[in-house]
Amino acid sequence: MNSKASEALTFYYSVFGKRAYALCGKLGVTEKPNMPTHCSGCGATGTLHASKAGYLAFCDVCITVGGSYLGIKAPGRMGGGWAALLTADKAILSTGKDENMGAFKILEGTQLLHNSVRSTLINAILNPPEPPFMLVAFSNSSADVCGQLRVSHSKDIVYICGGSVERLNARRIREAVSLITNNNIPQTILRNAAEARGTIQRGTNKHHVARAQNELNLAEEKKPGITTLVRSIPLIGSPEYNWIIACAYAK
Ligand SMILES: [Zn+2]
Repeated sequence: MNSKASEALTFYYSVFGKRAYALCGKLGVTEKPNMPTHCSGCGATGTLHASKAGYLAFCDVCITVGGSYLGIKAPGRMGGGWAALLTADKAILSTGKDENMGAFKILEGTQLLHNSVRSTLINAILNPPEPPFMLVAFSNSSADVCGQLRVSHSKDIVYICGGSVERLNARRIREAVSLITNNNIPQTILRNAAEARGTIQRGTNKHHVARAQNELNLAEEKKPGITTLVRSIPLIGSPEYNWIIACAYAK
């Protein structure tokens, strides 16, 4: 595990994971023949909980992040469908699932929102808290969940972590979103212009480039200034571009 990931596990544990683990109830089996002596996720020693098959074992921190994926009976509620924005003094948890809402009610210092994971991430990108903070989208899909945490140390570079690590230039996202909303750019025109700009930039096929230039001219006629705008924002296909669209056109 690299140093950023282990720093992140420590942060997660100190601000949230320790409390979250207290909710998990009895996890059952801590002894199995030939179970590992180190956490299969982060390498920690101490009390470990064996997976069903017994040849993997995880520490409490990794269990609360990885949830049911790790093959350990509880806590299923820590699996997918949750997002958390964690700072030193606050944990904002959100889920779109009704049945999840009750799970964290008893945690002190926790704000519960009935909100989709996606809109929680959008809010955090647009209005990040004071660093350091951690933005986790809990996931069922990653075996390497314990190495998938990152602390964000600035409002400009924001990590979305939990299932994978997505490093975002949030400042560029916010700048682009302001440009788009201030200029009232319709989504279709933006997409066409951004696709055209991407094709022109790649420049691999001159026929495609010519067609793209046409598209861009058309978009410029409909919305003067769009060419400059799409040249100034991250390229279509980049993670930043996808979040720009998500943030600018969130209902
Ligand atoms: Zn661990």
